[in-house]
Amino acid sequence: MNNKVILVVLDGLNYQVARDCMGYLNGLVEQPHSQSALRTTLYQLQSELPSMSRPLYECILTGIRPIESGIVNNAIVRLSKYDSVFSLASAQGKVTAAAAYHWVSELYNRAPFEPVRDRFTHDTSLNIQHGCFYHWDHYPDEALLLDAEYLRRTFGPDFLLIHPMNMDDLGHKHGLDSHQYRNGARHIDSLLSNYIEAWVADGYQVLITSDHGMNNDRSHGGTLAEERDVPLFVIGERFSHQACQVKQTELCGTVCQLLQLDHHKPFTQELLA
Ligand SMILES: [Zn+2]
Repeated sequence: MNNKVILVVLDGLNYQVARDCMGYLNGLVEQPHSQSALRTTLYQLQSELPSMSRPLYECILTGIRPIESGIVNNAIVRLSKYDSVFSLASAQGKVTAAAAYHWVSELYNRAPFEPVRDRFTHDTSLNIQHGCFYHWDHYPDEALLLDAEYLRRTFGPDFLLIHPMNMDDLGHKHGLDSHQYRNGARHIDSLLSNYIEAWVADGYQVLITSDHGMNNDRSHGGTLAEERDVPLFVIGERFSHQACQVKQTELCGTVCQLLQLDHHKPFTQELLA
C-alpha cells in the first residue's frame, strides 16, 4: 500500500482563486479516468480562527484549534505542546521532512529560529528530521519546490510538508482582488504541474491546501468568507473522492491515517477509501 504523504500548504490561498486560476489542478479534477492514480478531488474547507498563519500551521499539523493550542497569533514563538504529524511519525520510525517557512521549525524543532543553525536541518532526533527552512516572505516558490524535491529524492521521506509563501506575500502587497494575486495562483499551479505526476508515481498521496485566505484590505485574520474559505485538493488512490465535509482540524488525523500511524487525532473517515 502507498502510505507516504506529501502535504502542500500554499500559504494564503483563497478558495475561489484556487478554483478560478489553477488550471492544472482543476484539470486533474476534470479528468475522466476515474481509476487513475492521479484521480483528484477539490473540497472547500473553512479555516479555524483567527485566520492567521502560525495559529493555523499548528492547527493543520496537530489538529488543535488555535484557541486551544495557545498559538493565537503570529508573534508567539515557542514549541508546540501537542503531538503533531511530525512527532507521531518520527516516534513511529517514519522519515519526516519539510521545506517550509521558519515558523514551522519553531513549532516542531527548535525555537527561536537561528538561520545559521536551522536553515538546513538534518538531525534524526528532531521531529522534522530533514528541513530546508526559509525566513523571507518573498522566497521564490520555484526555489522552495526545488528544496522540497531535493529533500524528497535524497531522504525519501514518508511525510513531506511543502510550504510556499508567495501567495500570502502577493496578497499582502496587492490584495485578494488583484491581477498579481491571481497570477500568483496561476504560477504556483504551473510549478506544481512539474512534480505531481512523479510524486504519485513514487507512491505518495498528495494533499494541497492552505492555512487561510485573503481579503481586499491586503490582510487576513478575521471571519470574512474570503479569509476563511480555502481549497483542499486530494490526489491519489487512498482517497474516496466522494462528496463530504472536511474540517481543518481533521487534516492532521487524516494524514496520520494515510501514514498508518497510531494516533488519537480526529480525522475525516469519508475522505478516505
Ligand atoms: Zn499573511
